[in-house]
Parts: sequence; structure tokens; C-alpha cells
Amino acid sequence: MNAPISRTSSKLRPFGTTIFSEMTALAQQHGAINLAQGFPDFEGPAELVAAAQQALSEGHNQYARSQGHPELVAALAKKYRDRHGLAFDALKEVVVFAGATEGIACALLGLLEPGDEVVGFEPYYDSYPVAIALAGAVARWCPLRFPGFALDAAALERCFTSRTRVLLLNTPHNPTGKVFTRDELAVIAELCRKRDVVVVADEVYEHLTYDGAVHLPIATLPGMHERTLTLSSGGKTYSMTGWKIGWGVGPAPLVAAAQAAQQYVTFAIATPLQVAMARAIVRLGDAYFAQLQREYAERRTFLLDVLRRAGFAPAAPQGAYFVLADFTARFPPERHGDDRALARALVVAPGVAAIPPSVFYAGCDDGRRLLRFAFCKKMETLRAAAERLLEPRG
Ligand code: PMP
Ligand code: GLN
Repeated sequence: MNAPISRTSSKLRPFGTTIFSEMTALAQQHGAINLAQGFPDFEGPAELVAAAQQALSEGHNQYARSQGHPELVAALAKKYRDRHGLAFDALKEVVVFAGATEGIACALLGLLEPGDEVVGFEPYYDSYPVAIALAGAVARWCPLRFPGFALDAAALERCFTSRTRVLLLNTPHNPTGKVFTRDELAVIAELCRKRDVVVVADEVYEHLTYDGAVHLPIATLPGMHERTLTLSSGGKTYSMTGWKIGWGVGPAPLVAAAQAAQQYVTFAIATPLQVAMARAIVRLGDAYFAQLQREYAERRTFLLDVLRRAGFAPAAPQGAYFVLADFTARFPPERHGDDRALARALVVAPGVAAIPPSVFYAGCDDGRRLLRFAFCKKMETLRAAAERLLEPRG
């Protein structure tokens, strides 16, 4: 039979299926341990499940307020004020999304005109180029080079043109684990202020940093509060990626732009889960975040050690829950091919799934010699992966 004719819009066809669905399906097919897609294989806090059950039985079951349930927007406004001294009006400067993924898409759809340009960093989270393309805009990527990922200020400046409207920043960063320093953020902020560019700051891993690295919201830098839309998500912080509760905070015109799109994309987000997330944000504070970091630090140390012993050269992440590792010493590309070929082979034997990160790059080919391993997994899962990765091989 002939292959069916694609009916997918030409805007989306170049992007195909996301690598996360592809690798998870392959892992399931081959019974591989999934260190590819970044989702915890452990339960989030029991309080959240109890709060969701309570919200369901309290009758929070109809459409929520489009911009976000009053309890959740109030909890978020208080959290940003208490933690970072950032003041947001809960009813005008906070918007709830179906995860940060929807937030990124709605922010870009709401802020950009066709032909506008967006400056971002590669490697990037895979939805960024798609959301930019859907908005009819053009991406300019500034490379963060393996293994140090330092900001190249001159390269960043070269990405800016008279058409630049938005800078898309992700810190802590997926997939590198980079946490942008205060000095780096100051360089970015200076360029954005000078050129009147809005920052969309994806901070979904805000609570996951290691080795003393400190996450600093770019909105806290001088002159940046008024030009930054900060996005985050309960999925990472509360280990509930399936809830898809994300949010944006920023000055009213930026929130209004993103919400102008959101009101026609989803209109409103699952009401009982918003109520439960609000209660979690109020109840789970510093002690919970410290415990979360301790557990992730242990998983990170373990995975780094295993990767080194297995012959990879990993870059130790300062944040988020991924490790990029150079595989070329252990798996020479002349014999094993590039990241895509190797990732497919490792799913079969020894049965460990990782992400081939070349999909996160547009212009730079660092990804072809790297694999991304996720450590948001039970220690038991990581130990099982270790056994497989450390098996003697021919
Ligand atoms: N941004 C980054 C950098 C991510 O890694 C993720 C992970 N899924 C998201 C956004 C999306 O978050 P959510 O699941 O809340 O849509
Ligand atoms: N953010 C997660 C990752 O980078 C998963 C995202 C997804 O499955 N869409 O692996």
C-alpha cells in the first residue's frame, strides 16, 4: 500500500514526532530502562494526591476562571513575593497553563508578529522551535558548547537584529543542566534592555540545583521585572508531570498577551488539579524543597559515577535532572554511528534508553557525540540501568 498522504500543515511537518514519544515507545517495545523521557517513575508527595481527591469531592469540577483558579493565582503571587521579592497582582499578573509547554506556545503566539525574531540558546527544549514556527517567527540560536556551556556574549550579541522581539531563556537548563550565573544573566539583561526585547524565562527546574549553584530568576535583575514573563510548572517541583499545571507571572501586558492566546487554546485548566496545586504550594515549603534537592543530588551523583565507569564523559549538571555525556571514547562513531544510531542500539542492548540530543540543536553538531540521560528515576531504576551499562561488552 502507498504511504498515506500527509495532511499535516507544512508548518508542523518538518518537526515530525517528538523524540520523547519516540524513545519511550522504543523503550517499551524492547523492555529497556527508560532514562530517555524526563518524568519521575516515583510518586510525588502523598499530600498532593490527597488534596486532589479532596478537591474532586468538594465539587471543584466545572470550568475554572480562564486566567487561573483564584486559589492558585493567589498562592503563586505569594510564592514569588516571599521567595524572590517579586510582586505580582494575582488577578492581572498571573496566568495558569496546561503545563509550561502550553505556556511557551501561548507566550510566543501572544507576543510575536509574523517575521519577528526570537533569540534562544541551543541545545533547546524541543517545543521551542515548533512554537516559534507556529507563531510565524524566526529563531536565532546562540550555542552553549559542551562541556562547560558558558555564555559566549559576543555570539549572543550577533543573534540580535532589528527584528528581535523575544529572548527565550531556560535556566536551570534542559538538557545541559546549566544554571546561568548572575554575570551571564546580567549580559542577557543588558542586551534585552538596550534593544527593548521581552524575555520569556522558562524556569521549570527552579528548585533543582546542585553543588551550591543558585537559581536566579532573570526578572529579579534591574529593569527586568517589567520585561520578563516567567514560566514554571508544578510537574517538576512536585514530581507530577501528568498533572500538566504550569503558569506564567509577569507584568500585566505580557500576561495579557499570553492569555489572549491561552483563552482560545485551552480556555481553562483542570479545576481540581489547580486547587490541589494551590494547596501544595501553600503547604510544602523550604523543608520539602530541601528534601527534593537531597534526593536528586543522590541520584545525580550515582548516575555520574556510573556513566564515568561505563566509559562516558559526562558534564556534571548544576541543575535540572539530565546529564549530557560524550560517548565517543566508549562507542567510537566510526563503529557505532552518531547519537541517533547509538541511542537506538542501546535500547536493544544493553537495554537502556537515552535521548539522542542532536534533535535539540539547529546549527551546532555537538549533539551528534552526546547522549542525554535522565535521573528523575527511583534509585532502584538507576541501579538496574547501572548493571546494564556496566555489563562487559564486546
Ligand atoms: N520547559 C522545559 C525546559 C522542560 O524540560 C519541560 C519538561 N517537560 C517543559 C518546559 C514542559 O513542562 P510541562 O510538563 O509543565 O509542560
Ligand atoms: N521535559 C521532559 C524531557 O525533557 C519531557 C517532555 C515531554 O515528554 N514532552 O524529557
